Formats: sequence, C-alpha cells, structure tokens
Amino acid sequence: MTIAVYPGTFDPVTNGHLDIVTRAAKLFERIIMGVYEKSNKHLVFTTEERVALAKKAVAHLPNVEVKSFGGLAVDFARQEKAKVMIRGLRMNADFEKEFEMAMMNRKLAPELDMLCLMASQEYQFLSSSLLKEVACLGGDISDLVPEHVAEALRRKVRKM
Ligand code: ADP
Repeated sequence: MTIAVYPGTFDPVTNGHLDIVTRAAKLFERIIMGVYEKSNKHLVFTTEERVALAKKAVAHLPNVEVKSFGGLAVDFARQEKAKVMIRGLRMNADFEKEFEMAMMNRKLAPELDMLCLMASQEYQFLSSSLLKEVACLGGDISDLVPEHVAEALRRKVRKM
C-alpha cells in the first residue's frame, strides 16, 4: 500500500488544498493530511480548529485522514510510513520555495519522494493568507472554501 502525506499549515483549508488532496486520493491508497502545529506564519485558527475544519472538509474521502504534527515534515512522513510527500504548486507563488524544500527534504530523507500537483486554474491565485485578508475586509469568500470554513472565518472575523 502506498501511503502519502500532504503537509501544510491549512489556516484554514481552502478549495485549492481540497482540489489537491482530492486528486491525490485517486493516486494513492491512503493520504494523511498533516496540519503543522507551530508554523511561523501568523495563524488565525488554533491547531485543533485547523484539524477539525480539514477533517470535516475531507469527510467524504474515505482514504484521507487528518492529523497534526510538530517538527520536521519528513519525520511526520516517516512516522506515518509514507513514501511520498504531496505539495500543491501554484504558477508563480510556489515553485522556488517548493524546489528548495524538496532539495532539503531529499537530503534529510532520501527514501521519500516529493510529488507536486499543479493547482487547477481556478485556484491558482487562492492562498489562505489572501483569503483571510478578504474575509477580514468583509469580502465574499463563499466560492473559495467549504461552507463550514466560510462560517468559521466569519465567526473569527467578528471576534477580531
Ligand atoms: P505551507 O505553510 O506548507 O505552505 P499551506 O497551507 O499554505 O502550507 O499549503 C499547503 C500546500 O498546499 C503547499 O504545497 C501549498 O503550495 C499548497 N497550496 C496552497 N494553496 C493552494 C492552491 N490554491 N492550490 C493548490 N495548492 C495550494
């Protein structure tokens, strides 16, 4: 059985992430989405909230699980016995960062391979950070995230 991990911050999970994980779920027998606990990004949701939002978003995909992890993504992959790490690539935003990360990960864990799936056209310009900015300013985000994520974001924004 080929297991793959899909690590990320997922603050919060977007339709762009879900597009990647849905496509990856057709390629691998088991996918574990890894929600990174201690991102140095400015986080809006707690780890528990990010995990709960992602779990609900992938509940219809029987071979996808969601777990949180701390430390190196390659150690998380080893712990889950994954041979592959999935990442999503948007046209301009991601290539250099992902390439650098893939080279470092190859050094740290030569047995693990990175698989980058190209973001679908409609999500090329969708990022969690832009989404949060738009939500904070009262913009309509309903096409960009599942309904429960949009609702969670609206609740957060009201408290901010
Ligand atoms: P990270 O902090 O690891 O970049 P993110 O939650 O921002 O975590 O993203 C996780 C993964 O999903 C990364 O590989 C990122 O490039 C990818 N990703 C983010 N947004 C999109 C999108 N709109 N379409 C496809 N992939 C995406």
